[in-house]
Amino acid sequence: MSTETENPPIPRSTKIVATLGPASDPKIKELINAGVDVFRLNFSYGAHEEHAARIANIRSAASGTGRHVAILADLQGPKIRIGGFASEPFELAPGDKFSIDPALPDDGGNRGEVSTKFTALAEQVSPEDVLLLGDESLELEVIDVKGSRVNCVVATGGEVRAGKGINLRGGGLYAATPTARDIEDLKFACDQGVDYLAISFTSSADDLKTARKLVEERGSACAIVAKIEKAEAVASDANMDAIIKASDAVMVARGDLAIEIGEAALMGMQKHIIKRSRELNRCVITATQMMESMVENAHPTRAEIMDVSNAVLDGTDAVMLSAETATGKYPVETVQAMVRVILGAESTPFAAPQTSLDHDCEAIDESIALAAMTVAEHLADVRAVACLTSSGNTPKLMSRSRSRLPIYALGNNPRTLSRAALYRGVHPRLFETNSYDYALVNEAVVEFLVQIGAVAHGDVVILSKGDLEDVQGGTNTLKVLEVD
Ligand code: PGA
Ligand code: MN
Repeated sequence: MSTETENPPIPRSTKIVATLGPASDPKIKELINAGVDVFRLNFSYGAHEEHAARIANIRSAASGTGRHVAILADLQGPKIRIGGFASEPFELAPGDKFSIDPALPDDGGNRGEVSTKFTALAEQVSPEDVLLLGDESLELEVIDVKGSRVNCVVATGGEVRAGKGINLRGGGLYAATPTARDIEDLKFACDQGVDYLAISFTSSADDLKTARKLVEERGSACAIVAKIEKAEAVASDANMDAIIKASDAVMVARGDLAIEIGEAALMGMQKHIIKRSRELNRCVITATQMMESMVENAHPTRAEIMDVSNAVLDGTDAVMLSAETATGKYPVETVQAMVRVILGAESTPFAAPQTSLDHDCEAIDESIALAAMTVAEHLADVRAVACLTSSGNTPKLMSRSRSRLPIYALGNNPRTLSRAALYRGVHPRLFETNSYDYALVNEAVVEFLVQIGAVAHGDVVILSKGDLEDVQGGTNTLKVLEVD
């Protein structure tokens, strides 16, 4: 019998964002156990009471699991949508006539016409333009515009249901974000203490500055996610960089983005946005249709397995599920499939670590983070990086270096811990720094990591901390500790 201790399995680095909806509301605890790190509340659907109930359910389900789960409130933004129908769903076939008119009653649509809240539609389209309904891309060709009414003929048929998005092929429908409704939702989300707020259809850094100001005025510290899904947002590198810098995280919102920039440009754009976000020390979520076929089926397609894997190799912090968990038949199985695929991708040599010393650091904590990851990757027997953190900034900076080593974010600020659930490779854990004599803290960290099974005798731990506890941005110390 061998007496050698086996190295503990390397935990999953890439995080999973799951959208809640009727399919997953009764399964929140199962989803957490399956591996969900961040729950997304889609403010395009549902009243505030429903979202409040979801938030309460997430918190009660998470407590007792030892897991820190983040909540992301995704504001609808100026998503241009059709209204509702007296009876739905139904199919439209090529050649059918279909009109969109904001003057119609909200929920009074039928097979020939439907309302929209976007009152400027008629001003922004002209004959021969192609309007796309929903991600399924039902195509409507504009025949003419009469007053507020846009008359179309169906070019490519498909299923119609209430609330489907309307996009103009090639981009160009414009409405400001955040909308008046978003501002009400933003205040509600801030009061509920969500961790992340996603701003849909961001066109410029100013959209994010407006949102951040509103968040601050509401007394909230919630982080801002820029959803990149408009042609204008990515029209120049300078605008994209400005958007990334004005955010805490970005979302490659592939559903609307593909329609706006064209499907052939999507792959290159995803890689570009992920790379730039990491370089600018921001987090990034890759979203939409990642395992779409699992809405109906218990197994992902080969193409979906490859898509999730490739996003992992691109360096995304998280992969996101939308309809798969919100309304699909197999929400828990989808998360389990994603976990398997992520672990598979992360274990290949193509996901090799990369620490780069070729850039200058803007702050002391950034230099410590970079040094920690460089030492961790180049010294034998390092099994974990630990980080005493109050704001969560140091583990976030550490996770901008590519590594397979787990980064344990240790602290006692619950908001910091749940926010860190999004960061790739970062494992937030409650650690009461105040209860330890500061001189003994190194020993206490190592003991803690042994207790949770992260490290064992003979392993090496890299620890970062500040001179004083509870000082934001105060990280200035790196320790290399042997477990004995
Ligand atoms: P949505 O955003 O699901 O709110 O539309 C994501 C996307 O557009 O991909
Ligand atoms: Mn979108």
